[in-house]
Amino acid sequence: MTRPSIPFNRPFVVGKELHYISQAVVEGRLAGDGRFTRQCQSWLESQFGVKKALLTHSCTAALEMAAILADISPGDEVIAPSYTFVSTANAFVLRGAHVRFVDIRADTLNIDESQIEAAINPRTRAIVPVHYAGVGCEMQTINAISQRHDLVVIEDAAQAVGATYHGHYLGSLGHMGAISFHETKNFISGEGGALLINDPQLIERAEIIREKGTNRSRFFRGEVDKYTWVDIGSSYLPSELIAAFLYAQLEASTTITAKRLAIFDRYMTRLEPLQESHNIRMPYIPDHSVHNGHMFYLLLNDEDQRSRLIRHLARQKIHAVFHYVPLHLSPMGRKLGYNPGDFPVTESLAARVLRIPCFFDLKSDDQDFVIEHIAAFFAGEPERDA
Ligand SMILES: *Cc1c(COP(=O)(O)O)cnc(C)c1O
Repeated sequence: MTRPSIPFNRPFVVGKELHYISQAVVEGRLAGDGRFTRQCQSWLESQFGVKKALLTHSCTAALEMAAILADISPGDEVIAPSYTFVSTANAFVLRGAHVRFVDIRADTLNIDESQIEAAINPRTRAIVPVHYAGVGCEMQTINAISQRHDLVVIEDAAQAVGATYHGHYLGSLGHMGAISFHETKNFISGEGGALLINDPQLIERAEIIREKGTNRSRFFRGEVDKYTWVDIGSSYLPSELIAAFLYAQLEASTTITAKRLAIFDRYMTRLEPLQESHNIRMPYIPDHSVHNGHMFYLLLNDEDQRSRLIRHLARQKIHAVFHYVPLHLSPMGRKLGYNPGDFPVTESLAARVLRIPCFFDLKSDDQDFVIEHIAAFFAGEPERDA
């Protein structure tokens, strides 16, 4: 029998997803903002300690809403890492802003908070920290900078759902937070996301922007007797079918996170010897952070070693991947005026990160197979002291 391949990620169901979808169908409510949407939002609000959670059809949509809510306008500047997913920047570029990239820390791969202040100028309006791999950015420093310069903080917490920083959930620390339920994230609904709002002054306008610029939410609550066009907006809300699927996942959140952490810890324990013998680095979790097992990555010696390890694993039908092409090196980043060499830590780490299979359904013998073949690869590599 040939061994089936081990994917990098596999979407999963934990229990009641299909049951809740059929309930939504039977109840005859398929459009957004029905009871499953409300249940998901209440769950997010009480679980994460945010004033308001609004489901969106993606984290990208939540970031776009946040950019509108922060009144980002042409000529404004926004500070973000270059080592991130494209939506972190695009949401602000769509409003006409210039994204001023900042390098990352070599330990957590999060934005280097010590370099933020030098990037601030009179046009700067917002800081967008990205909690890479579910590990918190240095939010105390970032929030202090935002207060000193009167900037909006929008957390890209797409990967950080359920993770904490000094005991507070990520996404609850800035003015707003954006989270993702994409099928590659911890809790999934295929596509999906939410905007978390911590500044109560933003809530009413957020509901309007999400409902095509109308006051429909107030109408449904009986607060106005007609709904009408009151602001700019778009359609950012997901269908009830998505919310029904998601609610089943949120109900099982403890199980899902525990499983991911167990997978993470097993990789950590078993691969740790490579740190010593081959100078390979594993994820670093600062004391202030409780992560959520979102991702397990290795930091290899160089790009060539990474390519060889990917090919070695592919021969065993193990799918390992890397990301990101730093945004400042992308064709769009070059158009914005960035150049190779602008962010040396980002460039060095982006060439060496390798993500290995880490998903809810990963079986332990499959995980052991991955570990075994990584070990076999390094058995053939020269030893390198740390
Ligand atoms: C996944 C991800 C996004 C985008 O999430 P979608 O829900 O797919 O729009 C944004 N930022 C980061 C850091 C991500 O990892």
